[in-house]
Amino acid sequence: MQYKSYSLQNFKTIPQIKNLTGQQIMDIEVVGSVLPFRVNEYVVENLIDWDNVPEDPAFISSFPHRHMLLEKDYEQMRALIEAGASDESIKRSADEIRLGLNPHPAGQIEYNTPLYKGKKLLGIQHKYSQTLLIFPEQGQSCHSFCTFCFRWPQFAHMDEYKIATPENGLIHQYISDHPEITDVLITGGDPLIMKTEILAGYIEPLLSRELPHVRNIRIGTRALSWWPYRFLTDDDADDLLNLFGKIHRSGKHLALMANFVNPVELETEAVKEAITRVQKAGAIIRTQAPLLKNINASPEVWTEMWKKQVSLNCIPYYMFVARDTGAKHFFSVPLVEAWQIYRQAYQSVSGICRTVRGPSMSCMPGKVQVLGVTRIGGEKVFALNMIQARNPDWALRPFFAAYDETATWFDDLKPAFGEDRFFFSDELDGMLESGETWTGYE
Ligand SMILES: *Cc1c(COP(=O)(O)O)cnc(C)c1O
Repeated sequence: MQYKSYSLQNFKTIPQIKNLTGQQIMDIEVVGSVLPFRVNEYVVENLIDWDNVPEDPAFISSFPHRHMLLEKDYEQMRALIEAGASDESIKRSADEIRLGLNPHPAGQIEYNTPLYKGKKLLGIQHKYSQTLLIFPEQGQSCHSFCTFCFRWPQFAHMDEYKIATPENGLIHQYISDHPEITDVLITGGDPLIMKTEILAGYIEPLLSRELPHVRNIRIGTRALSWWPYRFLTDDDADDLLNLFGKIHRSGKHLALMANFVNPVELETEAVKEAITRVQKAGAIIRTQAPLLKNINASPEVWTEMWKKQVSLNCIPYYMFVARDTGAKHFFSVPLVEAWQIYRQAYQSVSGICRTVRGPSMSCMPGKVQVLGVTRIGGEKVFALNMIQARNPDWALRPFFAAYDETATWFDDLKPAFGEDRFFFSDELDGMLESGETWTGYE
């Protein structure tokens, strides 16, 4: 299959679009002027069930929907488009709306960007001691855009919010100076949007003898679900698998951190073949996804996904809570409900699927897991736990927040028992103030 994508400029040429109402088409134009929109032919032809549109989860995952914008923002943009406003004024208004959508949650740029010889290394993040994130500048796009993507500003022409780095040797030097780094996670966007040759430029230096402490190379990707032909028939698909083989033979662990949000993404012949090819090249596929209202907010869906993943030899890894950014009002689920969904799904599978961890919130102090709701000394509370933490010592110390049935994110929570601080709050404030925030240790 040849890659072909659609965006706001040409989506009306998709044959199935004629089944939509005029209002739905208008909604795509209005919302797609603010939030990134790109969908490819594989998704249109193989993943979306057009008889089930607009409720279809693959459709909602890839096409703008009216309620992804708040009513006032929708009306503002609709009025401009209907009045035939200039591109410039549409862009100005879109930028203003985007800034109201919390484009950079959890202080990613301010607090996770490390220093090297006194200079900020823009385009890499070092929040947890063992793991360095690299955002290659050529990898800040995707084969299709997810409507729920928490990295949406990477694609929304908001240059001041873009996280991206060239391969300039500095990353390598930084890693060489930081023996605590065992994992390098190449992310985006989607790094597999890059030609293999460019990707290799980022990965091959990691295989050098100077970096023996780098044991695990991870690639965060949605290509298996959105464009499995990346591993099958793209011009450089074989080169990509050869690169995977080379990583494997170097003795390092290669993990594809693959995003699957909906069981249909695991069902096509193409994805199954792609998974097999990736595995034969020596990579392990670990799966993760956010929990999303209107897409996958039911225990049955997660049970089905985990079972399908295991039968394809993939390892369930994380269930994330949808981040407080972008169209969060459309996708977010109260934490108590997230826990119930996770718990019910977990109860219905064997230990083989229970490698998954969640529901997990990537927030300022770390990755906070909702262990559940319980009662302590008569008070109803959330029991929480950090899976990862800015200070490694905070991990696996259970802590408690007052129960709040409407809370959808960590920032909505208050400490339980009338306390005004969580156990880590003072130390976290100190770290953020001092600027020594990216590793949480000396
Ligand atoms: C999740 C995450 C990681 C990886 O954490 P693991 O638990 O090792 O998978 C690394 N850096 C950031 C900023 C993260 O959010």
